[in-house]
Amino acid sequence: MAVPGARARGWAAAAKAAQRRPRVEDAGAPPSPELASRRAALYVHWPYCEKRCSYCNFNKYIPRGVQEAAMRNCLVTEAQTLLQLSGVRRVESVFFGGGTPSLASPHTVAAVLEAVARTAHLPADSEVTLEANPTSASGSRLAAFGAAGVNRLSIGLQSLDDSELQLLGRTHSANDALRTLAEARRLFPGRVSVDLMLGLPAQRVGPWIGQLQELLHHCDDHLSLYQLSLERGTTLFTQVRQGALPAPDPELAAEMYQKGRAVLREAGFRQYEVSNFARNGALSTHNWTYWQCGQYLGVGPGAHGRFMLQGTGSHTREARIQTLEPDNWMKEVMLSGHGTRKRVPLGKLELLEEVLAMGLRTDVGITHQHWQQFEPQLTLNDVFGASEEVKLLLEQGLLLLDDRGLRCSWEGLAVLDSLLLTLLPRLQEAWQQGTPSPVPGG
Ligand code: SF4
Repeated sequence: MAVPGARARGWAAAAKAAQRRPRVEDAGAPPSPELASRRAALYVHWPYCEKRCSYCNFNKYIPRGVQEAAMRNCLVTEAQTLLQLSGVRRVESVFFGGGTPSLASPHTVAAVLEAVARTAHLPADSEVTLEANPTSASGSRLAAFGAAGVNRLSIGLQSLDDSELQLLGRTHSANDALRTLAEARRLFPGRVSVDLMLGLPAQRVGPWIGQLQELLHHCDDHLSLYQLSLERGTTLFTQVRQGALPAPDPELAAEMYQKGRAVLREAGFRQYEVSNFARNGALSTHNWTYWQCGQYLGVGPGAHGRFMLQGTGSHTREARIQTLEPDNWMKEVMLSGHGTRKRVPLGKLELLEEVLAMGLRTDVGITHQHWQQFEPQLTLNDVFGASEEVKLLLEQGLLLLDDRGLRCSWEGLAVLDSLLLTLLPRLQEAWQQGTPSPVPGG
């Protein structure tokens, strides 16, 4: 068992000091393909929750009791195994997500970070985020996570309306959320994010905007807006299907989103991604890796990863999914060092489609330099420059293709899904016509 000792405390202390460094406005130029294959972000999944929220279809379990020591050992083992298999030398960021990772003990978080720092380089200023639910995150607990090495919190606030929180099956009230938020800001100044949901059944635009404005009096420098998605198998889905609740209105949700992003812009937030807003440079570098199609390792039950295996002679990146159910996952980790259930090699076109769809989610879009990392021969201009349909999108001001690269305008970002209906087939067509070259890490 890896016990956090002097080294972990040393890493956590260095990370604490690094937290005071000024932040930058963007994530910088992409590394070379060679270097990129040696770097990754790390996602750690804590699969347990106190109670099932009515809308949630994530991979989570409501246990009678958690065998935390066994879970901790397995998270540590799997992190080490995947770091070795991938040959990743530098971990840029760590994200503890769930489930409800604020229910895990800070000791577990410290043990995972120490194992990562022992196996690869985890710079002292790496972003280490923990998702926290207001009811499992008292001030002293948050401080203990900070001492364990966490330097950023993402709080699942969801709503400032108690009846909405009840409808969502959350365990906290609006007051609990605001108290946790204040405490989190005191402990992690400038490094606290909150989630707010929109598009709930019976929700109205005016009161929701009122909530957002109220939140602006309390929030830190990062905020995420998520539209409720009604998922089959959830309580909320059944309630809507049976007519106990009205179906969410997509038009109203679109109006909330448009008005919400305008309010945030007015308040000095940069919409740096479809759902994410930051000011004072407080972008999430972990999520930035996903949008830039960087490598990431997924540790824990049901976690997803995307990385290249080292030492196999293959230059193909794989999508990996870990076994979903925690007890089975633990058995597999104990048996073979990791609980990977599925490995799917990503074809080059598939990877380029991801580069396109993920990159366009950000306000920076896809720079020519970034695209070249994945496809040196077929340029963005080759793919999109001559297309009449793309020209139309450019003329409509939804898309920009210039010497920086390809990106959505402010208006385009809100309708990205519909833009991709044109852009993805165009990429596939160009791919079939072109003769692209193999790319290391591609
Ligand atoms: S706390 Fe999060 S993961 Fe757990 S049930 Fe609620 S929404 Fe799902």
